Amino acid sequence: MNEAAVWWIGAGPGDPELLDGVRARLASEFSVPCRVEFPAERPEEAWDARRGQHSSSRILLWLKERTSQGRVLGLTDADLFIPILTFVFGEAQLNGRVAVVSTARLGGPTGLPGEKGRVAARLQKEAVHELGHTFGLLHCRTERCAMARSASLRDVDAKKPALCPACRALYLEVSSEIGEPHE
Ligand SMILES: [Zn+2]
Ligand SMILES: [Zn+2]
Repeated sequence: MNEAAVWWIGAGPGDPELLDGVRARLASEFSVPCRVEFPAERPEEAWDARRGQHSSSRILLWLKERTSQGRVLGLTDADLFIPILTFVFGEAQLNGRVAVVSTARLGGPTGLPGEKGRVAARLQKEAVHELGHTFGLLHCRTERCAMARSASLRDVDAKKPALCPACRALYLEVSSEIGEPHE
């Protein structure tokens, strides 16, 4: 069945309010049961000393080894990269079980009012985006759609934490068909 878990795998303590916000958003956007979990282990092998960042692809492999049903979205505060880019907000296995999103590039402490809410809103958008990929959704040209590609915070801020009508229709179609993720 379609179900999802949000795993906090960051170095710092996971903010319960932040995590619950993501959980609630995913549950409502994808109409799936969703829970928050705090695994004891961390994907240590994802650290790349040369780049001083964590490999998002290696985190996906780490998550995949530990996931046997439903989908898992790893949330972290680690700065993520893929080889061809300076950084990524997250990565997902297309049509798969696992995805990861980081808070590292979503706006650090500035001391300005409203900061926590801003980071939470951005995190929810990227969480919907990456989980959408696990359901087979591709990038969308609608700027306000959660499935729009984001290269910068400006792109993230232009989006809503929701699928556009076209992506939603596609999601409803695939989610009724596939059920369990493809391997
Ligand atoms: Zn994407
Ligand atoms: Zn869309």
